[in-house]
Amino acid sequence: MIVVCPSCFCKYSVQDEAVGAEKMVRCSMCGATWQQSAGGEAEEKKRRFIYLTQWTFFWSIVFVSIFSLFFARNALVKIWPPIGDFYEALQGEPTKSFAIQNISNFFVVKKGGLYMGLKGELINVSDKARSLPSVTISLTDDENINKESPYQKVWTHNLTYEKLLPNQKVAFETELQKVPYNNLICDIKLDALQ
Ligand SMILES: [Zn+2]
Repeated sequence: MIVVCPSCFCKYSVQDEAVGAEKMVRCSMCGATWQQSAGGEAEEKKRRFIYLTQWTFFWSIVFVSIFSLFFARNALVKIWPPIGDFYEALQGEPTKSFAIQNISNFFVVKKGGLYMGLKGELINVSDKARSLPSVTISLTDDENINKESPYQKVWTHNLTYEKLLPNQKVAFETELQKVPYNNLICDIKLDALQ
């Protein structure tokens, strides 16, 4: 069998009977002595293989964990919302929580005249499940914009969802009766509560 010196890695070919649990061997190159088990080089290879496998497995877990934390945060928060607090702690300053998107208006003819409607979506742009703010829509026009309080509140709505998860959105829609404005200017606000 082949015996390898653990100190200088010199290889020796020895008779099987020369080694065993009880036998000490000595390297003639560097003088190191060690107790040589009967497995020899094959056993050493097996031991190294197990060590490498464990090492690779460990670092794979570390890598996947780090990758997940930084690149799959939305998915993670969805699975386990409290982790959003962890991300916020990392970032320090809380980021913007909600955004309004896809705002559009439409007109409806009803008994009593023309009604204008506004619709849009409220989306949670943070990393955390959040309570919804209420949405307030105020209107003004060219003639009133320079007044002290130009905007007239026309619609406030507390959306019914308890909480929105990251990237989750909710649609809102309202009809404003007989809008008495020319050149309408719309202001949409999200009230605190975030
Ligand atoms: Zn040696």
